[in-house]
Amino acid sequence: MKRLFCMLLSAMIITMLPAVTLAETREESVIQELKDHCYINPDGGNKVHLDMNCPGVNPRYLPLTEVEYTEEISNKYHFCPVCCGITESAYTSEKEWFRDLYTRYHTVPVSLWSDLQVVWHDVNFRESPGGKVICRFKGGERLECLEEVWHNGSLWYHARSAGYGEGYIGGTWAKPLWHDLENWPVNDNTDNVSYNMLFFAYWLGTYEVEHGITIIVDEGSGPSLSIAPPEARNAQPSVIPEDMRIAYAIKLYEYGLICKDQKYDKLKGEDLTLSEKDSIASSVLQNHYGTDDMWTILRHMSQAIFINETDWHSPRNQLSPKDSARLSAIMEIILDEHTERE
Ligand SMILES: [Zn+2]
Repeated sequence: MKRLFCMLLSAMIITMLPAVTLAETREESVIQELKDHCYINPDGGNKVHLDMNCPGVNPRYLPLTEVEYTEEISNKYHFCPVCCGITESAYTSEKEWFRDLYTRYHTVPVSLWSDLQVVWHDVNFRESPGGKVICRFKGGERLECLEEVWHNGSLWYHARSAGYGEGYIGGTWAKPLWHDLENWPVNDNTDNVSYNMLFFAYWLGTYEVEHGITIIVDEGSGPSLSIAPPEARNAQPSVIPEDMRIAYAIKLYEYGLICKDQKYDKLKGEDLTLSEKDSIASSVLQNHYGTDDMWTILRHMSQAIFINETDWHSPRNQLSPKDSARLSAIMEIILDEHTERE
């Protein structure tokens, strides 16, 4: 398979750039082309494009802006898989893909956003959660997030729109912007698990294993992850660390599962006591999940997936094969990092 892929690449290089040698990789030839013409979405995009009207970009950001392909650009941006033809399948495994992605994102300083982006078609903006409709937004619309509100068992965003003022939007239909690298297109594909969710899953899975909330079991077919048995839930002292709500809330912000507000600064600051921070973290979790009980929040994760259903931000609450493969890779990485291998 890999050999076939290389042959195809060689064939493409020969077809497109007759002057280059076969030893040149697809990546090298793309870099040559980018030096001639390189396009980006300066409004928060994270990819370099060869096509000014790249079909992989939300049409509202087209045409893209031409820039010089400098070292700074090459460090900050990834190749667009659609128009540069370099896809993640170039990696030999999902594990390798995730490790590389993780390294690339973590070399960029954390930059938190207080904005939301609409991620579905014709989304209602309402006067109150579930109330009268003010207007409908198209996918890609950006709104200022004022606060999260838990209402009748689901998450709502209290938000401000430049054209329509304040209103409410259901948590399924919008997603916090994340980093200054990411824009959310309308999620018309079947893959629901985005990079920030994978990073959060990796952080949480690691945290749970290190604190005995999730345990490694081996029932003969090799090690796997399993949520700790019921005894652990009533254990004294609790296996849930007393500062877990604080750590968890901070990561919700830092991995873009909630929008930045002043509570983040208080949780990260030096001025408050542990119990003051815990009460802020509790209110963050109450607004986001409707509860501040850690076991309840963790139980709402599909087992060993480490992503709470509230954080899907999609009407399709199911994993695509690609989502499953990526989450499995994260489980394997966590296992690799926490089991002795001979
Ligand atoms: Zn592109």
